[in-house]
Amino acid sequence: MAEEQHTTAPSQLQYDDADEYRPEPPPPPEIPAWKDGSVRVGIHTSIAGDISGALEIAHGLGANALQIFSSSPRMWPGDRDSSRFAAADAARFRERRRQLGLGPLVIHDNYLINLASPDRVLRTRSVQAFHGEIVRALALGADYLVAHPGSCCGSHPSDAIAAIADGLRQAVRGLKLGDLRILLENTAGQGNSVGSQFGELKAILDLCRDLPMGVCIDTAHLFAAGHDISSEAEFERTLERIEAAIGLANVHVIHVNDSKAVFGSRVDRHEHIGKGKIGLEAFGRILNHRHLTARAFILETPIDKPGDDRRNVAALWKLLGQPVPAGGGRKSWHKPRPQSSAKKKTRTPSVRTKASSARRRKIK
Ligand SMILES: [Zn+2]
Ligand SMILES: [Zn+2]
Repeated sequence: MAEEQHTTAPSQLQYDDADEYRPEPPPPPEIPAWKDGSVRVGIHTSIAGDISGALEIAHGLGANALQIFSSSPRMWPGDRDSSRFAAADAARFRERRRQLGLGPLVIHDNYLINLASPDRVLRTRSVQAFHGEIVRALALGADYLVAHPGSCCGSHPSDAIAAIADGLRQAVRGLKLGDLRILLENTAGQGNSVGSQFGELKAILDLCRDLPMGVCIDTAHLFAAGHDISSEAEFERTLERIEAAIGLANVHVIHVNDSKAVFGSRVDRHEHIGKGKIGLEAFGRILNHRHLTARAFILETPIDKPGDDRRNVAALWKLLGQPVPAGGGRKSWHKPRPQSSAKKKTRTPSVRTKASSARRRKIK
């Protein structure tokens, strides 16, 4: 009976499902704002001084996407620490980018990297430097890392292709790429550069099937490499060739540059939109082509005089038939003053570059 006594009291112990601990259901994976299906127009922007400044510049110019170098593009990264971002700087960059809704974030790799170099020292350095590119891209939450395939310096193209694929795999070793995708850029075909032929890009992709890879197509490079995209019929044929060799679905970013160099010259010289040999009309077709929707269009045009960057961004929006987004309304862009000056003064940016408009003129 005593036991029954015990069983009556339990009304207090009764199971009340309000008391149950229910873990919060895991939030659905956050879809970045930039993947909202809207047209994405970006511009290569300097990270000189403060990486987050690049975001303000791109936004202020009326872009909703951007490309940057994550370190000085013509210098080998120094010691391990100087080639990385301080965690606080990277976090601030990611947060500001989220606030501005900028994306995709594209990082262009260092020009000195040549994964196809037959020189063992240069090749090792290239693999290390590309590893650093990936580490920094991951720290900044980049979506794409654009890489020039390399230059075969006399070796057979097939050897170069195998070396590039092998180098990429070595550079990725030990890293989780997550949403980061490595994009191989087509080249103008200057010197012994690999990648002016779509088949070469495809061969590298085929050897790197286990890596998140894709392609970035540069319009000026296409034109210089012998695809006359200034003509509507030839542009269509070029898209057909890309589709047949690589698959347009593998093209994630388009570098939108007019060409100073003449058709088929294999010379890489970018020009303002509509002021070069490709021409405004052709860019209207490229930007609005039914097979190129949902691609990011990134400018790498020169800055010959102040405002050229803003004008090129505006030119793309005009060709797309859309108004320049809100951030681009400013007449001139000034760097915001640091909010906590005391802290800022003592902070040493872990990556310092002396980017200048002169350097930006040479983006490939
Ligand atoms: Zn490039
Ligand atoms: Zn390019």
